Amino acid sequence: MVYAHGGNPEDYDRLLEMGIDIKGKIALVRYSEPYSYRGFKALTAQRRGAAGLLIYSDPRDDGYVRGDVFPNGPWGPESHIQRGGIPFDFIVPGDPLTPGWASIPGATRLKPEESETLPKIMAVPLSHKETRPLLENLAGPAVPPEWQGGLPFTYHVGPGPAKVHLKVEMDNSVGSIWNVVGKIKGGEEPDKWVVIGNHRDAWVYGAVDPSSGTSALLGLAQNLGQLVKDGYRPKRSIVFCNWDAEENTLTGSTEWAEQYTDKLKKDGVVYINVDSAASGPYFGAAAVPSLGDFMLQITQEVLDPYTGKTIYEAMEQHRQGRNQKEETGLIETRVGSGSDHTVFLNFVCMPVIGMGFDGPYGVCHSQYDDFFWMSHFGDPQFCYHATLATLWGMTALRLANAQIFPFNFEAYAGEIGSYVKEIVSQGEKPVSPDLNLLVSRIESFQKTAQELNRHIERLLSQGTKISSEILQAINAALIQTERDFGFPGGIPKRPWFKHLIYACKFTYDPEVLPGVTEAVEEKDWARAKEQISLLDKAVSRADRTL
Ligand SMILES: [Zn+2]
Repeated sequence: MVYAHGGNPEDYDRLLEMGIDIKGKIALVRYSEPYSYRGFKALTAQRRGAAGLLIYSDPRDDGYVRGDVFPNGPWGPESHIQRGGIPFDFIVPGDPLTPGWASIPGATRLKPEESETLPKIMAVPLSHKETRPLLENLAGPAVPPEWQGGLPFTYHVGPGPAKVHLKVEMDNSVGSIWNVVGKIKGGEEPDKWVVIGNHRDAWVYGAVDPSSGTSALLGLAQNLGQLVKDGYRPKRSIVFCNWDAEENTLTGSTEWAEQYTDKLKKDGVVYINVDSAASGPYFGAAAVPSLGDFMLQITQEVLDPYTGKTIYEAMEQHRQGRNQKEETGLIETRVGSGSDHTVFLNFVCMPVIGMGFDGPYGVCHSQYDDFFWMSHFGDPQFCYHATLATLWGMTALRLANAQIFPFNFEAYAGEIGSYVKEIVSQGEKPVSPDLNLLVSRIESFQKTAQELNRHIERLLSQGTKISSEILQAINAALIQTERDFGFPGGIPKRPWFKHLIYACKFTYDPEVLPGVTEAVEEKDWARAKEQISLLDKAVSRADRTL
């Protein structure tokens, strides 16, 4: 066995510098801070030739070094095990045997050995209680200082003398999963869908992940259901989705959206995701840039249940407390992966929003994520659960009822422009002229979007009735514009990912302009030019649509 820190590529490089090759050995790695998706650790270990992988929770990452542990505090006790999937769903999420098409009865299925996303090595998660005797029995050089974790002895990299016999029993049979989908039919435009979703499957009890979100979804369904019984109907339909098998490669949502891609492409207004609703008092939201301002407005109208301040003010205060830079937006507009919004943004090319409250939480995916934890540390009064349901419901209702969708493409264009300028600033000469052309294309798109915004403002401020043809034309264009950022062939090496502005990195972190970014990183200038041209065409399409 070899200790390989976070199990990221740079860690194995460092080991090689120390003369240690992981080939044929078992890598012991920790869940790292900042987080990198464990499937990326598995792929990295596999690529480097490791025989197997052990992933453990080090007390420095989410245990006693951070604060009091369960049952006295929110951090992970010595026996907590963070379970979790390791397939490579950053390449294609969903059923590994049906990449890109719906896994329904009768569907064509790959053989497991044909799947690009199933790991070829085994991996097991461990607590630090179980890891300790292994780690204590590693000799070899002491670890570099930044690799030292929180256990009370000096870590060594090995290899050995600790030896591990790794045996995993797998059930590879095909079985059923169950998505539960309900709908409030819209009164005026029933074909148009505002889709909201949350997953239901948990690793153990899942009080935070996902049951806090599921309780918010159920509360919302009950309340909106009551409104319908009282005779109220939203203008457009609201579709409630309770996904199964999110924890296994985002399967429930992915397969459903692959099954209904055409319908969603045509009529899907937005997808609003809540995974964990509440593990603390700090609100966070991510959205495509067209919906950033809209989400800020929502936070200005809902109150924090304890302080009576608006959620917006609470976010501002929290940001100042962390000394975070002013420029960082309160709404995260770089959207990565790791939950059920992925298929909607990256495969269907619909606008997406995600939201939740968080706080100190060291028991993720373990048996301690339970009712005791929630009622003592996470959200003892369940106020943030209720507040999240309010925020979620307001967001859905406004989008379902809006006369004109509040999609701001002027802001979106500004974001895309800044991503391109980030690449320009790297000074990669071979693609500089192409990038400069792209910048001017984006500026033209931004001008068009600005004109449309002004036009909409004028229309709405006139107070007279706007003809339904005009409303329909504007709304159809606003829906189409996000689709215009998609390319049917997808991005190089990951054709499932159709969106040209956003994808995820293999760690689940957001990656902007993925096709261009990856080609530039690899200094593949021919591919970079091709990707810039595809992006240029996408922005032109969006410009024409608006
Ligand atoms: Zn979850």
